[in-house]
Amino acid sequence: MILDCAIIGGGPAGLTAGLYTTRGGLENVTMFEKGMPGGQITQSSEIENYPGVTGDITGMDLMMPWPAQCQKFGLIHDMAEVRRLSKEGDIFTITKSDDTTIQAHSAIICTGSSPRRAGFKGEDEFFGRGVSTCATCDGFFYKGKEVAVVGGGDTALEEALYLAKICSKVYLIHRRDTFRAAPNTVKRVKENEKIELVLNSVPQEVYGDASGVNGIKVKNNEGDIQDIGVPGVFTFVGNDVNNQTLIQEDGTFLCDVNEQGQVIVDLSMKTSLPGLFAAGDMRIEAPKQVVSAAGDGAVAALSVISYVDELLN
Ligand code: FAD
Ligand code: NAP
Repeated sequence: MILDCAIIGGGPAGLTAGLYTTRGGLENVTMFEKGMPGGQITQSSEIENYPGVTGDITGMDLMMPWPAQCQKFGLIHDMAEVRRLSKEGDIFTITKSDDTTIQAHSAIICTGSSPRRAGFKGEDEFFGRGVSTCATCDGFFYKGKEVAVVGGGDTALEEALYLAKICSKVYLIHRRDTFRAAPNTVKRVKENEKIELVLNSVPQEVYGDASGVNGIKVKNNEGDIQDIGVPGVFTFVGNDVNNQTLIQEDGTFLCDVNEQGQVIVDLSMKTSLPGLFAAGDMRIEAPKQVVSAAGDGAVAALSVISYVDELLN
């Protein structure tokens, strides 16, 4: 069997694409997801900007009903990692990490992005043993203790606020003295008595022993070193696009990407390769929001329906 459409990635973009393709009449649509459907927002402790959804909800709460809603219209979930997407003639081949393959007439790639490493000494050595990129997952281990957060974007500040509810103190380490996070979030951070700002400072080293992290050394613009004794360091320094599945055997990308590896699309989420569409955080100029990723997924799905209709009829 050849799928009408293969959707790679089950975050807000992929799940919405799954809903719109199946509800829009495509019969054989499979969504491939390597982890848990829902995407990176499931790591967020708080979401307050998804329209119509009010109250204290986590990213996990928000995403919980999405998979079942798509399955109701016939979307198949294949909980597998896709290693490569390729195309020969009019047919796409989806190669999974166990080397099995499936073919499709069209594909929507929405593999999102992953947390970047900050690049200081000890970060990799202590990753998972005191260094973390997920406050919702690991914050509880530091209940009543002091922690450090690295970064100055929305994620760092929101997660610092979340950690301040659990921990006795949060050192927010940022390399500049202004933040790129939303003004309201910056205001809440500045007003929070449990958060101490460590500005114009970059991490030099996380140190510890066999039992985990003991502290982080940071250097400020004047060259002074500050040693902050904490058992937990959370880094939120941005994300890299997950575009590995588009890389072909010869090292080239299946479609055009920009210098940051983001997939180049037009307003209908069409890539440079006919039949391939991209949606969500991995596309150029993505606003990196759940609502826009979902919007992209819907647009890509509508484009796929027209493409498949023209191809097969
Ligand atoms: P993702 O959510 O990244 O989903 C991609 C999916 O693809 C993942 O489930 C992944 O497992 C899967 N995948 C990747 N590679 C493969 C592969 N090879 N094979 C199979 N599956 C694969 N946005 C807001 O609007 N409001 C917020 O409050 C907010 N808070 C945030 C807080 C945090 C901590 C973070 C990290 C992000 C936050 N965002 C927020 C941003 C939001 O989460 C993203 O913009 C959104 O999730 C992007 O959706 P996506 O579907 O494009 O990608
Ligand atoms: P981001 O906006 O790219 O911010 C990354 C932060 O890390 C920046 O402050 C940056 O400093 C700092 N940084 C980068 N590399 C560093 C390094 N090596 N060492 C130390 N610091 C480093 O990433 P993000 O906060 O994860 O947000 C990603 C996107 O998701 C954004 O578009 C954001 O708006 C969105 N998002 C939205 C919400 C929301 O709407 N509520 C919540 C979370 C995320 P500089 O500032 O100096 O560059």
